[in-house]
Amino acid sequence: MREYPRLILDLKKLKNNVNAVGELCHKNGITCAVVIKGFNGIEQATKCILDQDVDMIATSRLEQFEEVAGYKPKIPRLMLRIPAISEIDDLLRLTDMSLVSEIDTLKAIEDRIESGKTAIAKGKKRIENGEKYKIILMQDLGDLREGFWDESELVAATRYITSEAKNLELVGIGTNLGCYGSIEATPQKMRELIALAKKLEIVAGKKLQYISGGGSTSLPLVANGKMPSEINMLRIGEGIAIAKDLPNLWDCHIDGLLDDIFMLKAEIIEIKEKPTYPQGNIKCDAFGFTPKYEDEGIRKRALVALGKLDVGYLELIEAEKGIKVVGASSDHTILDIEDAKRDLKVGDIIEFKLKYGAVAFATSRSDIACEIVD
Ligand SMILES: *Cc1c(COP(=O)(O)O)cnc(C)c1O
Repeated sequence: MREYPRLILDLKKLKNNVNAVGELCHKNGITCAVVIKGFNGIEQATKCILDQDVDMIATSRLEQFEEVAGYKPKIPRLMLRIPAISEIDDLLRLTDMSLVSEIDTLKAIEDRIESGKTAIAKGKKRIENGEKYKIILMQDLGDLREGFWDESELVAATRYITSEAKNLELVGIGTNLGCYGSIEATPQKMRELIALAKKLEIVAGKKLQYISGGGSTSLPLVANGKMPSEINMLRIGEGIAIAKDLPNLWDCHIDGLLDDIFMLKAEIIEIKEKPTYPQGNIKCDAFGFTPKYEDEGIRKRALVALGKLDVGYLELIEAEKGIKVVGASSDHTILDIEDAKRDLKVGDIIEFKLKYGAVAFATSRSDIACEIVD
């Protein structure tokens, strides 16, 4: 295993953020599902989260529940990505609840429980005990990723769960914003969701336990006191484990949140004074794009052994003060160190802060060591 790049994960800071966001949510009557997909559910981090007083944990990839399947099993597991029909056995084995947007998928879950009760029941007390699998129906409010679009279909799904299915329980309605369509979570969007929830409650003949108003992009509404009180569940990943988008993209500052739970260290492999403008005919880079280059004359540049394969793209990483990330290819990142605050030489280590995507990429690589600090 190469020594660098190396991830540093600070569990004390993670704990701090889990509890800070948890408190903010609870003060506002909101159940917080802590989302672990942003760091690929790495075991120590997920266990650290389960050790806190959390309402539930959630992810979009079932494998990420596997390692913690037996750990604090009373804390509910929520599947975030609309489940594939081909993964229903794992869904039933590893989770208690799922977001769903297809009647066919509801039927497949129901049929699987009905027809395979004994096989699936292995290790899953809930089904052995005849408990129902919990469903949150997803409504698309314009971000155009998952969710029902036609209200009649949403109503039909509600009818199916409440009056036909024997093994499913409708526990809520949810939506997702700011993922594909870049749509902002606003009080207006939340009110649309609440209005739909009221309609479904009439169809279902019961109150819905959860009105799930989105992910981290809905957190600013809570922090700014603009979240309608009927919204009582959020699913928060970035806002807990990375905590950069809120201040950077949404101009929202939550007291006590730390943005350096994950850091990445990389080693300098070359230092040279070089021109800043490429010399020769400019065609395209390693990935077929042509970035804009600016001529700033000769500057001191460092290469680090870290690349796009490790962190996705260079906009997702930020070096220490005085050092600028200027470019990257698969396995090299070019830094401008002309204004660095310290004297750098080959073999020195540079620390980077990571945005959401970079944490997701780096934690998915088996060849990047993760050092746990507690
Ligand atoms: C990823 C995801 C979330 C959490 O998103 P964050 O931005 O990390 O808070 C919530 N809901 C769904 C459906 C998701 O896929």
